[in-house]
Amino acid sequence: MGEFELIERYFKRPARRAALGVGDDCALLNPAPGMQLAVSSDMLVEGRHFLSTVDPFRLGHKALAVNLSDLAACGAKPLAFTLALALPRAEARWLEPFARGLLALADAHGCELIGGDTTQGPLNICITVFGEVPTGQALLRSGARAGDDLYVSGHVGDARLALEVFRGTACVPASVFEFARARMEQPTPRVTLGLALRGIATAAIDVSDGLLGDLGHILKQSGVGATVDTDVAASLVAARAQCAGSGATAEREIASENWLEWALAGGDDYELLFTAPPSQRAAVAAASGASQTPVTRIGSVDQERGLRLRDAQGNVVPNTYTSFDHFA
Ligand code: ADP
Ligand code: MG
Repeated sequence: MGEFELIERYFKRPARRAALGVGDDCALLNPAPGMQLAVSSDMLVEGRHFLSTVDPFRLGHKALAVNLSDLAACGAKPLAFTLALALPRAEARWLEPFARGLLALADAHGCELIGGDTTQGPLNICITVFGEVPTGQALLRSGARAGDDLYVSGHVGDARLALEVFRGTACVPASVFEFARARMEQPTPRVTLGLALRGIATAAIDVSDGLLGDLGHILKQSGVGATVDTDVAASLVAARAQCAGSGATAEREIASENWLEWALAGGDDYELLFTAPPSQRAAVAAASGASQTPVTRIGSVDQERGLRLRDAQGNVVPNTYTSFDHFA
């Protein structure tokens, strides 16, 4: 199959909201009055972001999910995306499930594929998403204020557990591994929560490189510090409770420091980390309920710069965890 047949067969669908979709030199979007376009790109590279053995359906899902997660962190509603794809071979048995996984998530969020580029080369998937947010209402990294509460959605550390199992450095019951692997390979972008947090959260970011590292971006851009409760964070690894519940010995084999490290610095979580003043606690709870997304208060924003960790006994220590950096 040639390049144009490939595009036609797997990626061309009738335009819906877009004025013009796949097939011309540019796609056309009609921005709604009073709205700002939110734009973000994320690239997935074989061997760096995923293993060559990953299920193509899941990879299609993840490629879009990590981009939708950025829109969620801005409180933007997904509209459309483009797909730039380099692939070694035009093979139906890879393209068909990849496109299915990609477009299923796209349809679930009403986000249409409006264009892209296709070339032969080492497997590399780059998506650019476009979303909309009422002018001035985007959630930014720079809005956290001293005294704000610090929250994270859902669970953290499970994707990292899956990675450690793949690396052979951790061992858990098969059902727990399948759960953790799905968290790593098919993350859930917290789009509905992000929309519900408009006007409530003072700052937000999505956790891709590790909770504390991504928190560092909020703190730097907001000119504040924070204290994080480590026992609360460590309890957010869903697989830990599952190991304990399975009656297997695994939970005991994995040291509590490891669970804590994966929660705080694991990466690939795609949860929302955000701040809001204590006066908004009821509103945060309502946003969590309305979006059916659990949210946990894990600390607070301080006037004093820097990031501090507080253990269950209330002892405060400086942060020593580092998060993922491609060039570090
Ligand atoms: P051009 O050479 O003008 O950039 P192309 O020949 O690369 O256009 O692409 C033809 C059309 O197919 C364009 O509308 C482009 O946006 C679209 N397209 C190319 N690759 C993809 C893809 N992987 N997914 C969706 N649309 C694609
Ligand atoms: Mg082109």
